[in-house]
Amino acid sequence: MNLLKNEFEFIEELVKRSPDIVDHEVLDSVKFKNKSYDIHSFSIGPKDPEVPVLALFGGVHGLEQIGSHVVIAYLNYVIERLHWDKNFAALFEKVRLVSIPIVNPVGFKNFRRSNGNGVDLMRNSPISSKEKVFPILGGQLISSKIPWYRGDTNQMEKESQLMCDFVKDNVINSKNAISIDFHSGFGFKDRLWYPYACSKKKFDGIDNLKRIESLLDRTLPHHIYKVEPQSDHYTTHGDLWDYLYFHKKEHHPTMNYLPLTLEMGSWIWLKKNPLQLFSKLGLFNPIKDHRFNRAMRRHFLMIDFFLKAAANPDEWTA
Ligand SMILES: [Zn+2]
Repeated sequence: MNLLKNEFEFIEELVKRSPDIVDHEVLDSVKFKNKSYDIHSFSIGPKDPEVPVLALFGGVHGLEQIGSHVVIAYLNYVIERLHWDKNFAALFEKVRLVSIPIVNPVGFKNFRRSNGNGVDLMRNSPISSKEKVFPILGGQLISSKIPWYRGDTNQMEKESQLMCDFVKDNVINSKNAISIDFHSGFGFKDRLWYPYACSKKKFDGIDNLKRIESLLDRTLPHHIYKVEPQSDHYTTHGDLWDYLYFHKKEHHPTMNYLPLTLEMGSWIWLKKNPLQLFSKLGLFNPIKDHRFNRAMRRHFLMIDFFLKAAANPDEWTA
């Protein structure tokens, strides 16, 4: 059953059901057409920067709702389990889970990729690629009426700034951290992308990345993820994760950080159910219940893996 027909009510209800160990905050709100939309964050576990972190983000692209659904459903799973499973609760003495489940609530509620100002948040950072990027799709400065608009890269949009500040304060200042940003819409396969988006140069966290990939392959040999650098497919300007990784390199050079993006392959949902072509949402989200449920089951196992891996950094760091 799809529990997430009204995601914002569900989040508020989740907060009410949360045990004390869960910190919830409304980071700020964004306005659009006389309505106000809150941006919620969660933090579970010790604040000490020595404690490793797993961070989950969804809804950067408002139309890609399945990503937020996976993140909210996972938070629900953690919060429910914290009430009765003492061994599970003990895990959160060793690891912190933090999350912004809907980064772009205006886009999410109004079924648009961009935020209310027509800015594609994942093209909005000040990082400009020095390599040849895919025209328009790689980020454009022509007009907010065309997709992939970068906006003012010297003054990031409120949503981008909030997420970046949250990551700077709660993720990359930790000794060991992994983040996963949930997207959908590209290709037939589910892909786990690592940096860079702006360059085909080798990711300088590649050694840790290869160790965790090998741990994933050994632990879940039947997993379906293709692990690869985003730039294998296309390079872009303004990626927020590039920006945050470069910030980490400059300010916390000895910290271990892996920023991952899950890109769920939605074309398979389209192939199996071509009527989705007529629904904007359907291009990016599984419409049929059994596909929705399968996406939930599949990615829960993966998030659980990364939570346990984050809690045991000796297994993937040098
Ligand atoms: Zn996306």
